[in-house]
Amino acid sequence: MKKITFFTGLLFTAIFSINAQINKPPRLLVGIVVDQMREDFLLRYYDQYSNDGFKRLVNQGTLCRNVQFNYTPTITAVGHASIYAGTAPKYHGIIGNSWYNRNSKKVVYCVTDSTEKIVGNENISVGVSPRNLLTTNISDELKIATNKKSKVISLSTKDRAAVLTAGHMADGAFWLDLTTGNYVTSTFYMDKLPEWLVQFNNQKLAFKYLEKEWNLLKPIESYPNCLNDDNNYEEILNGKQRPTFPYNLKELTPLNNPYFEVLNRSPFSNSLLADLAIHILKNTDMGKDQTTDMLNICFSATDPVGHTYGPLSLEINDTYLRLDLEIARVLKALDEYVGKDNYTLFLTADHGVGENPQYLIDNKVPAGSLDEKLIYEGAVQYLNQKLGNSQWIVAYRNDQFYFDHELIEKNKLALNNVQDMLAAFLLTQNGIAETYTAWQLMQNEYTGSLAAKLQMGFNFKLSGDVRYLMQPGWYANMGVGATHNTAYMYDSHVPVIFYGKGVAQGVSYEYHTITDVAPTVSTLLNIKFPSATSGKPITEIFKKP
Ligand code: ZN
Ligand code: ZN
Repeated sequence: MKKITFFTGLLFTAIFSINAQINKPPRLLVGIVVDQMREDFLLRYYDQYSNDGFKRLVNQGTLCRNVQFNYTPTITAVGHASIYAGTAPKYHGIIGNSWYNRNSKKVVYCVTDSTEKIVGNENISVGVSPRNLLTTNISDELKIATNKKSKVISLSTKDRAAVLTAGHMADGAFWLDLTTGNYVTSTFYMDKLPEWLVQFNNQKLAFKYLEKEWNLLKPIESYPNCLNDDNNYEEILNGKQRPTFPYNLKELTPLNNPYFEVLNRSPFSNSLLADLAIHILKNTDMGKDQTTDMLNICFSATDPVGHTYGPLSLEINDTYLRLDLEIARVLKALDEYVGKDNYTLFLTADHGVGENPQYLIDNKVPAGSLDEKLIYEGAVQYLNQKLGNSQWIVAYRNDQFYFDHELIEKNKLALNNVQDMLAAFLLTQNGIAETYTAWQLMQNEYTGSLAAKLQMGFNFKLSGDVRYLMQPGWYANMGVGATHNTAYMYDSHVPVIFYGKGVAQGVSYEYHTITDVAPTVSTLLNIKFPSATSGKPITEIFKKP
């Protein structure tokens, strides 16, 4: 009898102490993904930010300063998928914004789904879904964990960002239809728009933002680290003579397509998205009870503005100052409608961005633009010379060549030999640094930085036969503006901030990969890791209870 009491006592102590060590999950998890936000943008503009946006998150949360994408290509669809799935394209299957599909023999867009329709615009013939995402993500896992009592909603200007963060079981993913200025969704989630969204769309806020003139938020002296407003590295919008402030959205709108394209290339599409997020916090039951809900807000404006003007422009600096104010506004709404101590938030980015190659060249830094047409023609000619004239290459996309496997078999050639042949040729081309064949990537496991990143971005069933990496500073077909997709640091180093309930205060300099974000969120929410998680929790961010 005494023995039993003793053990019961021990057991009770053990359970009690475990409970005391485990944080209670928040009522709301907020995921913020800033499109194209490189790690240094947080600190390069730091003195210019308000106290209530980025600075509030950094000062009261944990800033992780060494988080890197551990795969290439560093592109929007892939980034959003990987952050939420905790794994790389090798496993989750989102290998690009679009890719060549061997079955349909066509290029497919990452979220296009002809079995679905768009809800909110009947004029768009093809719908979207997350069906190409092969794994679960944190949104799915939260739904599974609470028998679907949790509500999960994702918002973005871009469909792919909203859909790939929402996962397969979400209540909804909503994005901006650039032809109408309304937020829309897909029949994958629902057959008609929720009442709160109809109300929001009826306010026609997108049209109000088009009335605006985009000028610098602060006096020009407050932007010390930018190039001159007028320089030769920026794209010029239709209707402008030079890429300079002010941008009169109303005047420029009729000259650019689709109708809301100019809004898309201004900071105001972020303001509109913040309006929607706040509308949801105010008018729905998100975050209002003990069951954790999830609201994902993917701010996209930074990407089209970054592509148009580049990371050294006044335009991008100003877009971040305005995003800072929008984040402050969302935080204030979270305090008000969910409660200061009831939510946990993370903020990160889907990839970084490189400087314009011509800017680097003009400043004696090695860089270049790879002419894809020349590379393709050279590859075709080379294989025809070696193997006889035939259509050996069926597609060339995302730095990969796809062969006609049936043709190769019919000619009794070994696929790996043909792959080796093209890989050797590509390596002789200016701007190409390394080449890998599908055969190599299936036989070996790479651990060195660049090859390992390429391997993690390579899916055995979806990727091509030969894949190359360009030299540092190089991009394909680059003129003005800027872009991203490489394995290099400018495209892969991004900020990660955790903030709010359950999160410690501090700065971490530890190396982490982007695939560590999802298992960290799972741990905060006491739910299981997404199915193919390859990362591990960022332990520095957890507050001791
Ligand atoms: Zn992006
Ligand atoms: Zn982009």
